[in-house]
Amino acid sequence: MSRAVENTGFTCLHCGAQIPAQAGGSYRNHCPRCLHSRHVDITPGDRAADCGAVMAPVAVDHSGKKGFILVHRCTACGAQDRNRLAPDDDIDAVIALQRPV
Ligand SMILES: [Zn+2]
Ligand SMILES: [Zn+2]
Repeated sequence: MSRAVENTGFTCLHCGAQIPAQAGGSYRNHCPRCLHSRHVDITPGDRAADCGAVMAPVAVDHSGKKGFILVHRCTACGAQDRNRLAPDDDIDAVIALQRPV
């Protein structure tokens, strides 16, 4: 059994990609390929949520200083989370999210 309590790599629950820990100090919380995340945080980075379900990317926001923000919604409990995009996120996946549905 392993408990993620720090900036560790993970396997994407959605596309199965092996995601290495992000270099440079900022923790990685979503898959750079499909942008899906996992409901493990209550406050970003705390790994305090018990849910553990897949969080689907639902929107991209732009907020002044922070740049682009990815909005995730948990597929199990409906919790929403806002996370900064990582530099190596798949830009095509990001663009697809911005398309009006
Ligand atoms: Zn993925
Ligand atoms: Zn959840």
